[in-house]
Amino acid sequence: MSIQRAPSTRTQVERLPERGHYDRETIHAILDQTFLCHVGFVAEGQPYVIPTGFGRAGEVLFIHGSAASRMLHSLAEGIPVCVTVTLLDGLVLARSVFHHSMNYRSVVILGTARLVVDREEKLRALRAIAEQIVSGRWDEARKPNEQELKATSVLALPLAEASAKIRTGPPKDEKEDYALPIWAGVLPLPIVPGSPLPDPALPLALTKSVPTYLRNYRAPGAR
Ligand SMILES: Cc1cc2nc3c(=O)[nH]c(=O)nc-3n(C[C@H](O)[C@H](O)[C@H](O)COP(=O)(O)OP(=O)(O)OC[C@H]3O[C@@H](n4cnc5c(N)ncnc54)[C@H](O)[C@@H]3O)c2cc1C
Repeated sequence: MSIQRAPSTRTQVERLPERGHYDRETIHAILDQTFLCHVGFVAEGQPYVIPTGFGRAGEVLFIHGSAASRMLHSLAEGIPVCVTVTLLDGLVLARSVFHHSMNYRSVVILGTARLVVDREEKLRALRAIAEQIVSGRWDEARKPNEQELKATSVLALPLAEASAKIRTGPPKDEKEDYALPIWAGVLPLPIVPGSPLPDPALPLALTKSVPTYLRNYRAPGAR
């Protein structure tokens, strides 16, 4: 299934529509810059928006969690879901309060998730989620055993109905405000990874061998 290039009636960005994008490349590129999303759904009349991790593989977004979690078992029933992903790139300080803004890249996905039951697909999904968080980690870490696999639910959400919205650049002020003696501009807000902290339970020899994939880690937004 391919992502629509034109918006659906539900994914059309209404305000500042020139910031809306619907092509597969733009949407994939934003999703691949991070691993955090917010999952919105209604259960028993109550809306919930739950933050969680995800992995993308092709045209599918995978989320996982305890089989007992409300999010997982509600969505497994096939109810409508809205997933959002946000990359915050900077604060936009305009001359007027009204025109303050943020630079961002975001994605909204609408659809219905399906429970992944096939063992091989479930493992591929878990690998996609792990690799999206720290690329290279899956190969080194112990793989899930049968009990862990059983305790983990995985859902697959097609990227068939999705939109992206992107704001870049300096503030956009009212014409007459450009003459005001007020600082204006953008404060970039990159995520900067710190130095890895070895687990105190590591044997001494391992504390010094920080994996290459961690030394070369690229933070969300900077991949
Ligand atoms: C970091 C950040 C800060 C923001 N701050 C504000 C703010 O303070 N006030 C404000 O009004 N708006 C803010 N926005 C923009 C906000 O997300 C909406 O785009 C905005 O409310 C206008 O929505 P709408 O009425 O055009 O679309 P709606 O009618 O709400 O949505 C229609 C469709 O447009 C698409 N869509 C809407 N917004 C987005 C998006 N951000 N990304 C991808 N697809 C989208 C979805 O598919 C949605 O189904 C912010 C966005 C981000 C990422």
